[in-house]
Amino acid sequence: MTTDTALFPTFSRADVAFERGEGVWLYGADGSRWLDMMAGIAVNALGHCHPHLVAALTEQAQKLWHVSNIFAAPHQEKLARRLVETSFADRVFFTNSGAEALECAIKTARRRQFHEGRPERYRIVTFEGAFHGRTLATIAAGGQEKYIEGFGPKVDGFDKVDGFDEDKVRAAIGPQTAGILIEPIQGEGGVRPVPPSFLAKLRAICDAEGLSLIYDEVQTGVGRTGRLWAYELSGVVPDILAAAKGIGGGFPLGACLATDAAAAGMTPGTHGTTYGGNLLAMAAGNAVLDVVLEPGFLEAVAAKGLKLKQKLAAVVDLHPEVFAEVRGEGLMLGLKCRRPPAEVVAAMRGEKLLTVGAGDDVVRFLPALVVSDEDIDEAVARTEAAARALSKAEKGAAA
Ligand SMILES: *Cc1c(COP(=O)(O)O)cnc(C)c1O
Repeated sequence: MTTDTALFPTFSRADVAFERGEGVWLYGADGSRWLDMMAGIAVNALGHCHPHLVAALTEQAQKLWHVSNIFAAPHQEKLARRLVETSFADRVFFTNSGAEALECAIKTARRRQFHEGRPERYRIVTFEGAFHGRTLATIAAGGQEKYIEGFGPKVDGFDKVDGFDEDKVRAAIGPQTAGILIEPIQGEGGVRPVPPSFLAKLRAICDAEGLSLIYDEVQTGVGRTGRLWAYELSGVVPDILAAAKGIGGGFPLGACLATDAAAAGMTPGTHGTTYGGNLLAMAAGNAVLDVVLEPGFLEAVAAKGLKLKQKLAAVVDLHPEVFAEVRGEGLMLGLKCRRPPAEVVAAMRGEKLLTVGAGDDVVRFLPALVVSDEDIDEAVARTEAAARALSKAEKGAAA
């Protein structure tokens, strides 16, 4: 029996605790300084303790934290209006997390069919390699056996397709289908971009069949790819979109965005939340957008992403024994490894560089969007040092 923790031992945690952060730097209680290239897994969009975020949250904390959603919500209106004005959507529902944003998206897609007189349509087509969260419905949507096992009957209503294959999608669609759910770039699955031509096919299928196209932009959204939303890269617009992670800059916040038509079934009483749209969360969300929507900010993210990608590609060329390729968009980059990613992440930690694994063979770089050119140079130098250490260890083992 583990007795050294009062926590559920559900996470295999690295033995390092941080006390303070500033931008892309984290400081341990022992005074150690770490270069953070994962930003809480794409959450700290503006880095740690961005002054504008700290000021907005502090100011709100002195006024009002929480009122029930049974009262008028001008604080939510403001952020929702800004999200609507900068996206395809007409309406927004605020949540506290990504999984909840997905739950709302799934309910919205099902309810639309019900509202349109087709209540038998509730099933959602999903994709191999997807990750949509850890609630009962979202583990079923993600379809990964290791997350589903032992939790009772899998929530019904998700049909997984293997590969980005139009014929397989058509085969998976039946008289009970309500929508198609996809990450424009799979995150946890290993930074796997979906071809824009495939997204266009999904759009055409949804239009022809009266289905909702749902994007999970929990990881890709809010500037991560150099666009406010990753769907802008393909130009293929969804009906419903789930956002979270970067949207609150580190404060728990998620959102479900939808067109009027797609959200038509979400009438009074059909959905709810206690915390969702909390005043502190809205202050954080508005402060994040203040910065991300500044002229030139997203262009700078794209430029920095390209720079990091090119420099990582050079490291791949230098160390083909460790790395296979670099892929991704903007500041959502995956380094495909020839070693177990856990080993590579550990070697990077040895250089005080923080990254995070994805899928079976990828290490992700998801730095704060405010990462500087010098930070990028430093991250690349530390990546190279980690690769050298790994190669040396391997040669030592072989000798
Ligand atoms: C992280 C993530 C989720 C789940 O978000 P939580 O806030 O952990 O519930 C869902 N979808 C994608 C694509 C994610 O990256």
